[in-house]
Amino acid sequence: MPELPEVETVVRDLRPLLAGRTITGVRRSKHKLRRPWLTKWNAKVVAASVEGVRRRGKWILVDLVSREPKATGSPALRVHLGMSGQFTVVDASVPEADHVHVVFALDNGNELRLRDPRRFGAAEYFPDSAALEAEMNAELGPEPFGLDPEYFRDAVRGTARNLKAILLDQSIVAGVGNIYADEACFRANLHPGRAGKRVTLAECDALRDAIEAVLTKAIESRGSTIRDYVGGSGLRGGFQNEFAVYGRTDEPCPTCGTAIKCARYAGRASHFCPVCQSSKSKVVKSKVIKPKT
Ligand SMILES: [Zn+2]
Repeated sequence: MPELPEVETVVRDLRPLLAGRTITGVRRSKHKLRRPWLTKWNAKVVAASVEGVRRRGKWILVDLVSREPKATGSPALRVHLGMSGQFTVVDASVPEADHVHVVFALDNGNELRLRDPRRFGAAEYFPDSAALEAEMNAELGPEPFGLDPEYFRDAVRGTARNLKAILLDQSIVAGVGNIYADEACFRANLHPGRAGKRVTLAECDALRDAIEAVLTKAIESRGSTIRDYVGGSGLRGGFQNEFAVYGRTDEPCPTCGTAIKCARYAGRASHFCPVCQSSKSKVVKSKVIKPKT
């Protein structure tokens, strides 16, 4: 599933390809996404131009300038890549792949296509991006870059849930998923099953630094291509070649050589080094987190 680095890569790729472009047409497949595009929105976006492309958590926001004379507020498209989404700009003459569900035609002969074989994704229209942002901010925690140390310490130490559950909870920190939660715990030498309330202040700070460092490195590598993820220009990611623990069960730990273990925490396969990430205290099996967004 695309996480923050993959979504950020898509956004950075799309920005120059979409800036200033005007949408000239929309079409959709007969199949519905988890949050489907509604045909009534077509008239709202045709003739609108793109003002910018942003990310919030794992969501892509395309800010539009409406051509409607009575428009109040600035509209936006909101896209989620779900489990398998690809959101790319291609020349309209490129044959359409299977599983393309929404296409925005652009005024320069290109098309912005959302392909999503598993259809867990979303493509929606919102008339007022400020209202949308307020709605998202009510559900999503802060972005993981420049996190306030006090906020993060309180969020981690204020719960009996384990670290894996805390990191996957989008209302605490937005954008981290299974891959980068495992990689951040490894980098901070913390067991993913450790209860938040048993983590020291120094360990909280180390985890906060590790999250930021892992995400920054992953963005530099254009994210991780596990199955079919590609950036907004169609290029694959490279961070899957730099995983320390994720998906490396039984392979040697890059630090100490011990075989990497895999166990379920917060309902998700969690990869860790049993030596470098010693649990220190009893590990806990927290409930599965179902992020709302
Ligand atoms: Zn190790």
